Amino acid sequence: MSDDAERKMQFLYALRSRGVTDKAVLTAMEKIDRAAFIRHYFTDRAYDDMPLPIACGQTISQPSVVGLMTQALQLSPRDKVLEIGTGSGYQAAILSQLVRRVYTVDRHRRLVLEAREVFERLGLVNITAFTADGSHGLPDQAPFDRIVVTAAAEDPPGPLLAQLKIGGIMVLPVGQSDTVQRLIRVTRGEDGFDYDELRPVRFVPLVEGMGKET
Ligand code: SAH
Repeated sequence: MSDDAERKMQFLYALRSRGVTDKAVLTAMEKIDRAAFIRHYFTDRAYDDMPLPIACGQTISQPSVVGLMTQALQLSPRDKVLEIGTGSGYQAAILSQLVRRVYTVDRHRRLVLEAREVFERLGLVNITAFTADGSHGLPDQAPFDRIVVTAAAEDPPGPLLAQLKIGGIMVLPVGQSDTVQRLIRVTRGEDGFDYDELRPVRFVPLVEGMGKET
C-alpha cells in the first residue's frame, strides 16, 4: 500500500475510534483531501487528528471534531446549511458532500478569499462563502435547516436561533474562550428549543465585528 493510502486508512480508523461512525460522514471525509485546506508547511500533518494553524491566527479544527459535529447535525440531502466560521473551508467542504447548499461566513476576508479558491479548485459548486459577522447569521438566506458554528460563543446567538427552521438543528460550542467549552445541539420544535450537551471541546472565540484587515 502507498504511504498516502496507509495514512488515509489510519485517518479513517482514528475517526471511527473517536466516535465518527456515520457512513455518509466517513465517506465525505475520505473524499475531501484535508491537505488542500492547509498551508504547505503543515501538509504532512494533514491526516493527523489534530487542529492546525491557518492564516489570521485561526485554526482548522481537529478532524474527529469536524466529524462529530457533522454527524450531530443529522443532515439530509435536501438541507440548506449555514456555517459560521469558514476558517480554512474544510468543514464547509465536508458539508457540501452531504447537503444541497452550504452558506459559510467568516469575519476575515482573507480566509474567505482563500477558501473560495479551494472550493473552486475542488469543484465544490454548492458552497457560497461570504465575509460577514456571523453573529448576525445570514438574514438574506434564512431560514436554515441546519446551522453549525465553529467558534465559541458564551450562549447561542439570538439571530442564529431565529434563523433556524422549525425542526431544524444547530450545533455549536458554548462557553468562555479560555476554558473548556461544551459542544451543544439545539433542536427547534414547534414550541421552542431543546438543548442537549454532546462533549467538551475547545474552539477559538466567536468575535463580534469584522476582521481588522477588511
Ligand atoms: N470551520 C473552520 C474552522 C474555524 S476556526 C475550518 O473548517 O477550518 C473559527 C473561525 O471563526 C475563524 O476563522 C474566525 O475568523 C471565525 N469567526 C470568529 N468570530 C466570527 C464571527 N463573528 N463571524 C464570522 N466568523 C467568525
